[in-house]
Amino acid sequence: MKVLLHACCGPCLLEPYDALAAEHDVFVCYANPNIRPAEEYARRRDTLVEYAEAAGIDVRELPYEPEAWLAATEGLTRPERCHACYRLRIGMVAAEAARQGFDAVATTLTVSPYQDPAAIRAMGEEACAEAGVGFLATDFRDRYPAATRRSRELGMYRQNYCGCLPSMAEAEAERAARRAERQKR
Ligand code: SF4
Repeated sequence: MKVLLHACCGPCLLEPYDALAAEHDVFVCYANPNIRPAEEYARRRDTLVEYAEAAGIDVRELPYEPEAWLAATEGLTRPERCHACYRLRIGMVAAEAARQGFDAVATTLTVSPYQDPAAIRAMGEEACAEAGVGFLATDFRDRYPAATRRSRELGMYRQNYCGCLPSMAEAEAERAARRAERQKR
C-alpha cells in the first residue's frame, strides 16, 4: 500500500517509519499546527527533515496554521483537547492523502507512552473515513525504548513537552511536582 505517515517529530519517526516501510511504500507528512511557539515548530521540523534527507525518506510539510489548532481545541482540556488535536492533525494528513492518491494514513503518535492509542485510533478512523482513505491503526509503544536510544545516539533534538502551549505549562508543573517529591525524601 502507498501510505502517508503523519510524523510529529524526528525522534518519533524513527521506529514507526522502519516498521511500516518494511511492508508498505511510505511517505512522511509533517502536519502539526499544535506546536508552539513557531521556533519550536521549525526546530522539530528541521530535526525530522535532516534525518529524513540523510535516510532518503520523502517528507512533505503542510501549512503551519496554529489558529486552526486553537479553533479545534477552544474551551477543551485534557483528554478532550488531545482528542481534538489528534483529529485535526490526522484529518489534515487524510485530506492530503486523498488529494494525492494514497491508499492509507498512519501516524507516529502511538510510539509515545504519553499518548492514547485508543483515542488516536478512534480519531484516525473518523478522519480517514471522512476523507475517503484507509487508516492504519498502530500501537508502537513497545518501540519507544529503541526510539529513545536511537534518537540519543543520533544527537537529535528531543523536546520536553508534547507541543501545544498548555502542554508546555503542564510538563513544567509535572517536573516541579517531581522535584518537590524528591526533596521530601
Ligand atoms: S498535549 Fe499534545 S496531543 Fe494534547 S493537545 Fe497538546 S499538543 Fe495535542
